[in-house]
Amino acid sequence: MSDILYIVVPCYNEQEVLPETSKRLYDKMTALHKQQKIDEKSRILFVNDGSKDATWRLIEELCAKSPLYAGVNLSRNRGHQNALLAGIATAAPHADMIVSMDADLQDDINAMDEMIAAYQAGNDVVYGVRSSRQKDSFFKRNSAQLFYRLMKLLGAEIVYNHADYRLLSKRAAEALLSFDEVNLFLRGIVPMVGFQSTTVTYERGERFAGKSKYPLGKMVTFALEGITSLSVKPIRMITVGGLLVCVVSLLMLIKAFADYFSGNVEPGWTSVIISIWVLGGLQLFAIGIIGEYIGKTYMETKERPKFIIESVLLQEDNEVE
Ligand code: UDP
Ligand code: MG
Repeated sequence: MSDILYIVVPCYNEQEVLPETSKRLYDKMTALHKQQKIDEKSRILFVNDGSKDATWRLIEELCAKSPLYAGVNLSRNRGHQNALLAGIATAAPHADMIVSMDADLQDDINAMDEMIAAYQAGNDVVYGVRSSRQKDSFFKRNSAQLFYRLMKLLGAEIVYNHADYRLLSKRAAEALLSFDEVNLFLRGIVPMVGFQSTTVTYERGERFAGKSKYPLGKMVTFALEGITSLSVKPIRMITVGGLLVCVVSLLMLIKAFADYFSGNVEPGWTSVIISIWVLGGLQLFAIGIIGEYIGKTYMETKERPKFIIESVLLQEDNEVE
């Protein structure tokens, strides 16, 4: 018996692309099944993220047509990441492996063969990585690059040029679901799950039809969400900044006194300039210290799993000779 694959596809107002996407995924699934790479219980699971168009009606029609299709309907729009998680949560009890991909066919469906092969070779997480961003607009390409650099600088572990096209094994999906945080940034959380992982590169295509559901505003929010939900380093920067100002204030102190004793200053200048620098530095430093504690509290409130066990070797019944 081969493994059960669930393809999870979040859809928000995707009526233009759904007919084509569903057809191509159907063909892919039947081909994979013929090659005995996946079990016949495998499914294509569409998650309707509170679409305002005919998306859910189309999904219902597909499900009525073939048991290969499945659907989840969210009560309202909750955003790409939450829709994806809803799909993974629905699929995890039934699937051995879960592939998540966008509805717009930008992710190359054929990369799935390689992903499944990597899974069968023992990988629990397989990241789809874009080989190039030639098809993205100049702006999207550069803003994305800036984002990945910034994330790295701030110490968040994310896979470069990997979006949300990935394969998760059942246990990786279950481990992912044990992260209870509300501000969810899957790209940052999946590497935290651990297990053996690898990457598969693919050429990212253009959106098949319809418009991007990530206008600039949403993209900036998404990036900020990613940074603030994964890293408390910005707080550390305040602390360091405060310390630096304190050091500068010491230098200013020396300079102010030197000026004072050399006598060529306006009366009052020395005390004013010293107060400004010393107080400024101390205040910034104090805010940083408070921030450090807030950062700690923030991380604690996420109640992330402290560890995820991959396997245990323990013989309980056998007596030791
Ligand atoms: N999406 C979603 N909910 C949203 C926004 C987007 O489920 O609120 C889905 C969308 O239907 C698509 C995927 O997330 O399947 C990626 O969106 P899109 O292709 O518009 O993003 P882009 O490729 O432009 O970054
Ligand atoms: Mg897209």
